[in-house]
Amino acid sequence: MPRRCTVCDHPERHGIDEALVTGAPYRSVAKRFRLSESAVYRHKTEHLPAHLLKAREGEEVAQADDLLNQVRSLQSHALDILERAEKAGDLRTALAAISQARGNLELLAKLAGELDERPMVNLNISPQWLELRAVIVGALEPYSEARGAILRALERVGNG
Ligand SMILES: [Zn+2]
Repeated sequence: MPRRCTVCDHPERHGIDEALVTGAPYRSVAKRFRLSESAVYRHKTEHLPAHLLKAREGEEVAQADDLLNQVRSLQSHALDILERAEKAGDLRTALAAISQARGNLELLAKLAGELDERPMVNLNISPQWLELRAVIVGALEPYSEARGAILRALERVGNG
């Protein structure tokens, strides 16, 4: 049986998940819902992807799609900002956008990893996933270090 998690057991877990998915800092989420920062952090890294997946299967389909869509929407905003910052030669903003995009990607990749073990839904071969992957890798072309890190992360997802 999984360990008990104060966030999973929290009556407002959906609100907490939503705050985490939209990138709210652990500290403010913890404070808002009277939880410990470490519990919030652990929940985000260990439980949130599974929740997104589980929610897809059951009565919470709309909500899971909503969360997933929010991550995707954030990702497209981040890439948009990256493109504009690049054009403007604003490297500081570009780096911040890369860092944000990378966080979003990690969450998506984690979710893809969960989904990948299930024969019914394979994000690795879905056209949307391939397209997203191509967009991300393409957008990071000028930033070889970030690009390398993301390619390695994607490879792990592909192999895992
Ligand atoms: Zn949890």
